[in-house]
Amino acid sequence: MYNINYREINFNKLTLGEKQRVFPLMQAELILYAYELGYRFSEGDGFRAPSVFGEIGESKGYGHRNSCHKYKLAHDWNLYKLDKNGKAIYQKDTEAFIELGIYWKGMNPACCWGGDFKNSDGNHFSIEHNGSK
Ligand SMILES: [Zn+2]
Repeated sequence: MYNINYREINFNKLTLGEKQRVFPLMQAELILYAYELGYRFSEGDGFRAPSVFGEIGESKGYGHRNSCHKYKLAHDWNLYKLDKNGKAIYQKDTEAFIELGIYWKGMNPACCWGGDFKNSDGNHFSIEHNGSK
C-alpha cells in the first residue's frame, strides 16, 4: 500500500500530469475514509471530454468552461449512507457531504470541495489548477 502524506505535497510545483497522477490516489483515500464511516459511493462525473463539453475555456454542454473535470482533476460522487439495517440511502443534499468535504480539504490546501462553491455542489471533489476548482 502507498503511504503518502498528501499535506506535504506542494501542488504549485507539480505539472498538470503530476497532479493528474496523484489525484486518483487521493480519491482512493477519500473513498476508503467514506466507506469506513458508513457511506457508499456510486459513480458520478469524472473527466469531461472536449468532444462533449468543449475544450478548456469553451462553454459546451453543462458545467463551468474551465472546470477541473476538463483537467482530469475533479470527480463527482453520488452519496449513500447506510442506515441501521445496512440499507444504502441516497443523499442528495450538499449537507450530507460535509464530513467528507472537510476530510478532503484537510488532505492538502489545493483540495477543493464543491460544497464551498457559490452554487453549492457537494458531490464535487477536486484539486485546484490555474485557478480552476
Ligand atoms: Zn464536479
